[in-house]
Amino acid sequence: MEKKTQYIFITGGVMSGLGKGILTVSIGKLLQAQNYSIAPLKIDPYLNIDAGTMNPLEHGEVFVLDDGGEVDMDLGNYERFLEMTLSIQNNLTTGKIYKHVIDKERKGDYLGKTVQIIPHITCAIQDHIKKIGKGKDFVLIEVGGTVGDIESIPFLEAARELSVTEDVYFIHLVLVPTLDVVGEQKTKPAQHSVRILGNIGIRPNMIVCRCKDPLINRTKRKISLFCGVKEEDVISDHDANIYELPLILKEQKIAEKIINHFDMKHNGSELNAWTSFVNGLKNIDKKITIAMTGKYTQLHDSYVSINEALNHARSRYTCEIEIKFIETTHIENNTIDLKTALKDVDALIVPGGFGSRGTEGKIRCIKYARENNIPFLGLCLGFQLACVEFARNVCNLKDATSTEINPDTKIPIINIMASQKKIDTMGATMRLGAWPANLKKGSLAEKLYGKTEISERHRHRYEVNNSYVSKLEKNGLIFSGKSPDQKLMEFLELDNHPYFIATQAHPELKSKPLTPHPLFLGLVEAAIKKRYN
Ligand code: GLN
Repeated sequence: MEKKTQYIFITGGVMSGLGKGILTVSIGKLLQAQNYSIAPLKIDPYLNIDAGTMNPLEHGEVFVLDDGGEVDMDLGNYERFLEMTLSIQNNLTTGKIYKHVIDKERKGDYLGKTVQIIPHITCAIQDHIKKIGKGKDFVLIEVGGTVGDIESIPFLEAARELSVTEDVYFIHLVLVPTLDVVGEQKTKPAQHSVRILGNIGIRPNMIVCRCKDPLINRTKRKISLFCGVKEEDVISDHDANIYELPLILKEQKIAEKIINHFDMKHNGSELNAWTSFVNGLKNIDKKITIAMTGKYTQLHDSYVSINEALNHARSRYTCEIEIKFIETTHIENNTIDLKTALKDVDALIVPGGFGSRGTEGKIRCIKYARENNIPFLGLCLGFQLACVEFARNVCNLKDATSTEINPDTKIPIINIMASQKKIDTMGATMRLGAWPANLKKGSLAEKLYGKTEISERHRHRYEVNNSYVSKLEKNGLIFSGKSPDQKLMEFLELDNHPYFIATQAHPELKSKPLTPHPLFLGLVEAAIKKRYN
């Protein structure tokens, strides 16, 4: 008999940014700990088909999946918490669902019928939810946006319709603010939000309250009374590190409540490894400073995955990391002195990026790290610029650069490959998603990964120009990872340096709390050595 799939919807009220994604995956984590399989779905009610074209300044980083899907950065938290590899199917946007229905209409699939939001869009949403849930115990559906937004109405209507034929569990996340003057937890915003949900035809089974301090009993009672849920189903989601939420919810037996609702079996709930990871973040006995160059220095969200990869690594070493952002345009025009900027740092990361702004300053930072034994990790653009730096300053190719920086350069160390003929709006197709690489035996890369065959995720257009590879190698640059056909340069490193490694890929996208990425572990270890030896 086919497995019965249960559906859990997570909606949010009052305002955005309350941590609906973290709540969704924390619940998923607890259900997994009970030995249940889950399929998560993130619904983004915007009209974009995917996040590929979205500005990181407005939306945070674009997360890339193995299948090449460019998705909302929340999917990064999904993968990190649930330790799953997701696909583009785990992200649904208004644009995607409308396109699907409109394409069908053009093909004549609706046989002359009037195509409408209800039932055609809402049914397509339900079909998608059912499809990704096939063979799983639970589908967890996070409805993005705030209840009451016009955009999310078709998705909430689809949820309501689904609850007519299936047993659906609704969790509503609300803000419970504390007024500083009186110090009282206020429930009125929650009441209003639950009322809006009621107008759409949805009654929550559980209300999770985002609050500063743990929810007090009086507040719980009030919410229970006014919002029509049992007191024990009013849950406290108070301020803490994001990785602590599964532990906070575990104490409140949230998975048990959901399992009871569906009349399912309890299978224990061990979270020991997760607990030690969280303890490693809190019980720190060391501190290092890592410099990070970047164009989007104003917005931490642009580098979420790198920040998280550093968190995963630092927990292992019970070490705090201070990130010092370096706006490299200031290095270029000498409003910041390079030596002063990098004086007390224990490591340097040059992350990915697009365009030429600030690249000369980044190249100068890499040179400084190479010459002064500062542990260095280059990611994507950082890898390309490390090649340029080496070509210029070691191979004496003074005009070497990337054609992204100067399309007319005589020495295009980094360029667009002839095979990338299919042109998109930016001039070439991107290399997206998971790509294999073979690591050189005896290299630092092999030592870190502990194997020679690996796979990492990519999102870039430019590549190392093969015509310069032998010149760079002869001068001492080690391409320690290449594509299986040896045509694409994937990793570089240097001998006679404590830690100098870069990759064309985005390894930060695959780091997980319980399996930190080896390149980040290596960087943190090298930085600790530099600081404390
Ligand atoms: N801009 C570079 C390229 O397109 C690097 C991209 C990146 O760092 N993600 O190849």
